[in-house]
Amino acid sequence: MARVTGKVALITGGARGMGLSHAELLLKEGAKVVITDILDGAKEAERLGDHCLYFKHDVTKREDWERVVAETEKAFGPINILVNNAGIAGFAPWDSRTDEDYERHYKINQLGVYLGIQITAPSMMKAKSGSIINISSIAGMGGSMGLMAYTATKFAVRGMTKVAALDYGSFNIRSNSIHPGVIATPMTLDNPNVDKAMVDAMAQNNPLGRIGDPVEVSNLVLFLGSDESSFMTGSEFVIDGGQICKI
Ligand code: NDP
Repeated sequence: MARVTGKVALITGGARGMGLSHAELLLKEGAKVVITDILDGAKEAERLGDHCLYFKHDVTKREDWERVVAETEKAFGPINILVNNAGIAGFAPWDSRTDEDYERHYKINQLGVYLGIQITAPSMMKAKSGSIINISSIAGMGGSMGLMAYTATKFAVRGMTKVAALDYGSFNIRSNSIHPGVIATPMTLDNPNVDKAMVDAMAQNNPLGRIGDPVEVSNLVLFLGSDESSFMTGSEFVIDGGQICKI
């Protein structure tokens, strides 16, 4: 039997990058999956088959969350797995930061996760089990130069994960955070602030000497979404090729 058969998953930022990879693996392992994104993901959902739907969704908007959760329940039933994956990463040196840039990071990376947890939890209560999987970053474990706003939000995601574990544990809802290192997605490879030399340098910055593939993170999402991780909650899972193990 596949590892998440019978479960319903909602993945934000699922039209491309890691979110799309998570959707592909959860579907392969038997889940019904809704991908949502501010980008159009209709073609991807169609390619992935009848057990996958796409809804347009801005994670910063409460009314979008309410609509997406209601439509997911209508199509597939109550939600068992939430992957709070949508995010942005902007680099800004100390002398060129703007309030607008900080606020944009806060709204998408932090408020979006807060709304997702709050609005999806009642659906998980109906399902009588749930796994909230919040995608933070190694930037949620330590600082990186130029990433003030991103780092602040990713630390917040790590903190909210712990509170959700406490708030919802008695409803059989678990909550964990994932902290990827550098992964080969459009956020890294199509980023105007990142050239090939920087990607090569980032690859050399960990003991394995390469950047990660999205599916390596998806394997962890699958584990946390499945009942195999049934006693794991409030924890943080680093997946970075060993980048932050150095002292
Ligand atoms: P991508 O940029 O490839 O995908 C993120 C998706 O989220 C995009 O489609 C993006 O659309 C979408 N998005 C942005 N804003 C919103 C919004 N308001 N509402 C809904 N969707 C939105 O990123 P990755 O796949 O690389 O990243 C996924 C997650 O992993 C993020 O949270 C990121 O911070 C985290 N992460 C990534 C790492 C990496 O090396 N790639 C490392 C560590 C963590 P748009 O293009 O319009 O912005």
